[in-house]
Amino acid sequence: MTSTPTPHPTHLRSHTFHGLAPGPRLLVTGAVHGNETCGTRAITQLLEEIDSGQLGIERGTVTFVPITNPLAYRLKQRMGERNLNRNMAPSAIPQDFEDRIANVLCPLLDAHDVLLDLHSFHTGGAPFVMIGPQNNTGALEPFGHAAEEMQLALHTGPHRIVEGWLDTYARGVKRRAEAASTSAGDRKQALVTDPNYGVGTTEYMRSRGGYGVTLECGQHDDPAAVGVARHAILQTLGLLGLIAQAPSPEPAEREILRLVEVVDRDHAGDTFTREWRSFDPVKRGETIGTRHGGEPITAPVDGFVVFPNPRSEAGQEWFYFAQRRA
Ligand SMILES: [Zn+2]
Repeated sequence: MTSTPTPHPTHLRSHTFHGLAPGPRLLVTGAVHGNETCGTRAITQLLEEIDSGQLGIERGTVTFVPITNPLAYRLKQRMGERNLNRNMAPSAIPQDFEDRIANVLCPLLDAHDVLLDLHSFHTGGAPFVMIGPQNNTGALEPFGHAAEEMQLALHTGPHRIVEGWLDTYARGVKRRAEAASTSAGDRKQALVTDPNYGVGTTEYMRSRGGYGVTLECGQHDDPAAVGVARHAILQTLGLLGLIAQAPSPEPAEREILRLVEVVDRDHAGDTFTREWRSFDPVKRGETIGTRHGGEPITAPVDGFVVFPNPRSEAGQEWFYFAQRRA
């Protein structure tokens, strides 16, 4: 017996408020991954407060997209037909639902200066915020707003900041492409070996002259994550001067971790030594996992296991390795 296929949503909902004085243009996105709904709920609360006059948008523009992947949201899962937060670009000939969303979302990103993208994560742990590269004129992710982006990251709340994602991802993709064998015609394989596949919402925003952060507000089902998302939105509105309330000061303590390596799962028999949680510290030489054939995977230096996914498919990211930034 087959279940009825889920009908595909036919629109993307957004809400824009224009302050009556000029100012920056902020975009706030929730549920880019459909099962990450803390941003959706925080946005819904704030929309009511703005409509009722409790919260006043005084300058600039803010647009809220409470459900950025409506198919994945309807399915209550991370992806619809693919991960919306990868390979973000307009396409002349859309191949899947996420391509069609990107064709609407990318112009929306283009029309704003700053992005706050609200996510949550699978395994427990404290919230953290992800930023892009340092200012650079390189080919992969040229950037000139590192100082503003760091200010934004610091004000969103979490004391842990993670940087260096696209750079690390691109190196992983390069290695993967070199190892790829016969499946060249396979779209899935083509996607995971394309360096542009690493471009999500914030990377796209930077590529268009803006800046933005990804805020990981907490575990998917943690009710506190909604409060983290709400606080971050209000802080961002205050920092950019869109509301009258000044933001609370940035936390005195902060920890900046740089992603330095991504390790793919090569085989379904590759296993972790234990149930890692993101940011679990590891000592140099400590065994993190074991390959199907018995070969241990050890920490190259003192660092941290980040984004471990014990259920990742063979040929895809298994975990990242991070070091404290000097
Ligand atoms: Zn996410």
